Amino acid sequence: MMPKIYSASLKEVEKLSDDVSYFTFNLDSSMSFEPGQFVMLAMEIDGEKVKRAYSIVSSPESTKELGFCIKVLKDGKLSPALNSIKKGDLVEIQGPYGKFSLSEPKLDQLFIAAGTGVAPLLPMLKSYLENESGNVSLLFGFRHENDFLFREELEALLSKYSNFTLIPVMSRPSESWTGLKGHVTVYVADNVHDSSRTIAYICGRNEMVLDVRKALIEAGLSPERIKIDNWG
Ligand SMILES: Cc1cc2nc3c(=O)[nH]c(=O)nc-3n(C[C@H](O)[C@H](O)[C@H](O)COP(=O)(O)OP(=O)(O)OC[C@H]3O[C@@H](n4cnc5c(N)ncnc54)[C@H](O)[C@@H]3O)c2cc1C
Repeated sequence: MMPKIYSASLKEVEKLSDDVSYFTFNLDSSMSFEPGQFVMLAMEIDGEKVKRAYSIVSSPESTKELGFCIKVLKDGKLSPALNSIKKGDLVEIQGPYGKFSLSEPKLDQLFIAAGTGVAPLLPMLKSYLENESGNVSLLFGFRHENDFLFREELEALLSKYSNFTLIPVMSRPSESWTGLKGHVTVYVADNVHDSSRTIAYICGRNEMVLDVRKALIEAGLSPERIKIDNWG
């Protein structure tokens, strides 16, 4: 059965970085979904219906108000159009879609993202921390300090949960950055503490996802324990 189509009205937009914003939409009826799933968001652009996939960042408890973290691409089609709509404007949302979700809660949970790829991982790791007690790590790569999305929220989770480890990695660091530098792939092996007791979740664009998967396999993870959300 095809997922349901909803009419969604823009509630608010909050800028998270120079090119990423958090969009909140009110749906015309409730949607049940799992952390990690995505929707297809459609808009009419120059007489053509354009659809793109967006991961749901907000909690599954909020079934009528969905939040998305979206990078606005200068040369893109849908993301700039979305960035120009006003409060109360309507878009079409169909979903939920996807099988990228938490599994094997007894294992160490290693989440790996680049940029906006953190979008589906944030609700997944929050749900895990709220309901389970195993170790959770987020290896999160981004370019500049400004691109450290959800920094406050992630640091608050760090203070709240002793079983949570946050490993930010900056590829174009400022002089004041004292954390890890470069790309996440380099730090994958260091964060697999026991390959027989780890499940990994990767989200990002194709090249990053494939490189990280390779690094995880080299670190001893079995391919069945590597879950991937490949944005192409
Ligand atoms: C399952 C899934 C979930 C997704 N979730 C999100 C999400 O939560 N947030 C989000 O911002 N995007 C997400 N995406 C990507 C999103 O669907 C669109 O591809 C993206 O917003 C670009 O659409 P556009 O119409 O603006 O650009 P398009 O006109 O489709 O693309 C313009 C050009 O930009 C390239 N491009 C696409 N994405 C990026 C990028 N991130 N950085 C640099 N170049 C890019 C394309 O390859 C193309 O060359 C997801 C994709 C998938 C498959």
